Amino acid sequence: MNKTIGFIGCGKMAQAIIGGILKAEKVSAEMIIASAKSKATRAYVNETIGIKTTSSNIQVAEAADILFLAVKPNIHQAVISEIKDSLKQEVIVVTIAAGISISDLTDAFLRPIKAVRSMPNTPSLVGEGMSALCINELVTNEDLNEVKAIFSSFGKVEVVNEHLMDSIPAISGSSPAYVYMFIEALADGGVKDGVPREQAYKMAAQAVLGAAKMVLETGKHPGELKDEVCTPGGATIEAVGELEKQGFRSAVISAMEQCTAKIKNL
Ligand code: NAD
Repeated sequence: MNKTIGFIGCGKMAQAIIGGILKAEKVSAEMIIASAKSKATRAYVNETIGIKTTSSNIQVAEAADILFLAVKPNIHQAVISEIKDSLKQEVIVVTIAAGISISDLTDAFLRPIKAVRSMPNTPSLVGEGMSALCINELVTNEDLNEVKAIFSSFGKVEVVNEHLMDSIPAISGSSPAYVYMFIEALADGGVKDGVPREQAYKMAAQAVLGAAKMVLETGKHPGELKDEVCTPGGATIEAVGELEKQGFRSAVISAMEQCTAKIKNL
């Protein structure tokens, strides 16, 4: 792709995305520029990821054909006020901030812009991201294909209706955190029985990876796959029964409700 991709803010999520894009080798490092407030972050990103960094958000805005706003939602507005007169005419602006709507974006720019609202996740860093996108009416099919190509370079991408976007963080944006907790818990359970910790993490993580692949690749309902593991009268159904007794599913669903409520109040 022969477009300059700019990032305003270069924290955990931007670094995961940039790392993913570069690993996929669809865009070269010279075509990516990022701004960060902290000198230490700029030096780290410059040295470890190898892209150009700057302290100037305006410099990034002036250079970018596709501009990612990768700052926290509470400073989104201030950043837009700072850069709004420095954008290229045809720039595509992509926000990754949770809870920022397309109309928040376009209102802040005070002019019609091509706007993409996205919700990626940190496994983008290892090429296994899950991103959801929605767009406004100024984004052409060609623009959307370019943006999708960027997101698919580090994982899977789904285009959704904007009214669903506030629910996506709970499913795929934040959920890696709950999955890490699950992996940690599986490993702790193994360690309790004497399995060496490093082996326990590997086994737990690979089991989660394998189960996820089974869902994605067999097309079977997760309930059917669960049933296939549960021998009648066996040990797995004992564990499943205990998880149900402890409210495993409802704990997950309640946690997701809390996550979504927080997003809606950001
Ligand atoms: P982070 O704190 O790691 O990164 C934010 C970066 O913005 C920092 O490097 C900070 O120095 C920089 N920054 C702050 N003020 C700035 C300014 N005025 N100009 C330029 N840069 C500035 O946060 P993060 O986890 O990378 O989150 C960034 C965005 O990504 C958030 O809006 C969040 O909602 C979204 N997001 C995060 C995740 C995740 O898993 N972390 C997932 C999906 C979406």
